[in-house]
Amino acid sequence: MAVVGIDFGSLHSLIGVARHRGIDIITNEVSNRTTPSLVGFGPKQRAIGEAAKTQETSNFKNTIGCLKRLIGRTISDPEVQEVEKKFTNATLVDVNGTVGVEVNYLGEKQRFSATQLVAMYFGKLRDIASAELKIGVQDVVIAVPGWYTDIQRRAVLDAASIAGLTTLRLINDTTAVALGYGITKSDLPEPESPRHVAFVDIGHSSLSVSIVAFSKGQLTVKATAYDPNLGGRDIDMALVHHFAEEFKTKYKIDVLSNPKAVFRLINGCEKLKKILSANTESPLNVENIMSDVDASSFLTREQLEGLISDILDRIPGPLQRALADSGLTIEELDNIELIGGSTRIPAVRTRISSVFTGKSLSTTLNQDEAIARGATFSCAQLSPVFRVRDFTIHDISPYPIKVQWAPEPTDTDEDTELLVFPKGNAIPSTKVLSFYRKDAFDIEAVYAEPELLPGGINPWIAKFTAKQVPADPNGDVTLVKVKTRLNLHGILSFEGSYVEEVEEREEPAPMDVDAASGEPPAPPKKKKYTKKKEIPFIASSSSLDKTVLESLREQENQMYAADKLVMDTEERKNALEEYVYDTRSKLDERYAPYVQAPEKEKLLALLSEAEDWLYTDEGEDTTKSAYVERLDKLKVLGDPIAFRYKETDERMKAIASLRET
Ligand code: ATP
Ligand code: MG
Repeated sequence: MAVVGIDFGSLHSLIGVARHRGIDIITNEVSNRTTPSLVGFGPKQRAIGEAAKTQETSNFKNTIGCLKRLIGRTISDPEVQEVEKKFTNATLVDVNGTVGVEVNYLGEKQRFSATQLVAMYFGKLRDIASAELKIGVQDVVIAVPGWYTDIQRRAVLDAASIAGLTTLRLINDTTAVALGYGITKSDLPEPESPRHVAFVDIGHSSLSVSIVAFSKGQLTVKATAYDPNLGGRDIDMALVHHFAEEFKTKYKIDVLSNPKAVFRLINGCEKLKKILSANTESPLNVENIMSDVDASSFLTREQLEGLISDILDRIPGPLQRALADSGLTIEELDNIELIGGSTRIPAVRTRISSVFTGKSLSTTLNQDEAIARGATFSCAQLSPVFRVRDFTIHDISPYPIKVQWAPEPTDTDEDTELLVFPKGNAIPSTKVLSFYRKDAFDIEAVYAEPELLPGGINPWIAKFTAKQVPADPNGDVTLVKVKTRLNLHGILSFEGSYVEEVEEREEPAPMDVDAASGEPPAPPKKKKYTKKKEIPFIASSSSLDKTVLESLREQENQMYAADKLVMDTEERKNALEEYVYDTRSKLDERYAPYVQAPEKEKLLALLSEAEDWLYTDEGEDTTKSAYVERLDKLKVLGDPIAFRYKETDERMKAIASLRET
């Protein structure tokens, strides 16, 4: 069984696998350690990951990135409209109440939800991992931003399930990093004096900070804070606006009016930005940006810092909030660990340093791979395949959750809500709620402070309906208990509901040894037993229904099979082409002594015919079986020749080796 951890990034993702000697970050089909988080649609097939990247420029309206930003959202979410739209070239549409895209696929307009897009992408990551491990991949741990809400988490779980994966845990990005940090250290202190580390992750689209206490065998997340809209892509966009302005006068072109030009300029600006992390100045060159203009410009690091100063200014806020929530002083922090690509920018580091005055920033972790590594450790912990060192994770939930209900009709004073899991509540955690009821009733779980959630995400989490409440023998209300759990994935579920029945039973009387004393025997003792009686209930959440999941899985499998057929067909076509050229040259060389002139002529004619056919409209693009059939026809003539050659060749070799001995 494979043990796999995924860092699902907005720009690209990484895959870790556990092996007996440790954890490796694996490479994809073109030997890269990161795989672009892109899904593309074409007239014949889908292109996912590297393949999507290769044709992104030519197919940019049908290529979708930043998948993790879209999943779990709706088309009416203001953040989707105001932020994500800027970074998406495909047309965003509503798909059954969630955001999705409309693309040209197989020659027609088709719609896919973001959940489906992520499922397609996870399917690619699954194939990369199983190609590396040479076994099927099922169990995974997926790292997601700590700021993800219940809806986003459930959508990622659904996507994984559509891709045929079982998610053992959704782990928060920085918690994964902390796990990888702690589990490999053999010098952690006793719990009384833990080591405190702040992890700061600034990636392509968001910022996360987490302050963690480490001691022997465990980590405890003390505080977290986020800016879900602060990352490398915002810096790229700031540069795009700067150069677009410059090019208006310099080249008389309006880059911002042309999506393809914006796309080209973004790529140029990302490169420029990276160069300026190591150099104090750099040229910018964008060939054929639009209207046949090759645009070029120049920027210094100082200018860059000026252009992005408002973004930089937003960095200290979350770091200060996390520090305050942790209750620690800067002196009590032992380490500040940087992760994520954007922490390579010197000015970003300066802003981080400004919060943790007097502390040096540390990059002892591999800043690109630490999340995937940690997620893989987590998968190893949860999977039966490997034995890993015991290491307990105490993570916390960032948003307070309450349950609410309509009051019992006879009790107008009753509260109608209860804060069940406050901000910072441990994950996982179970709470039992009590309700006094006579009849069936509903309760709902919602985020208590919707303004804390990213964008316009729906604060609704789940609904519970007790279908019937057993009548109280005295006609009074019945005490009903409802079990609710914030689980390992950070999602809330209603797990069960029951009433407790108290039963009094007589204890068997002890043998009366003093019976002869004449005292009256003691009355038999009674003992109370509580029995739990389950109550039937219905629980609903934003997770997809089983039947919907099943049909999406089927649809995904069909698209997957269709892609595979296209690839197999291409492979058979190449095989035919290769056979034609290979056999033709061999007929003049090594096969020459084994073939009669008429036989050779006939085969050459057939080879030419096949070659010509390959360049006709039909031969250019036909079915797999048509290519196989053609090749088989050639082989009827070619194989006997190849056989004669091989047989004689082997005989000669055998004779030669006999002579040698
Ligand atoms: P997120 O975690 O936000 O979903 P991600 O995990 O895909 O995104 P990372 O791989 O951590 O993102 O970082 C990618 C970002 O870092 C990109 O915006 C990239 O341009 C930027 N980046 C990478 N290297 C450098 C560098 N040397 N200088 C400046 N920026 C860099
Ligand atoms: Mg990341």
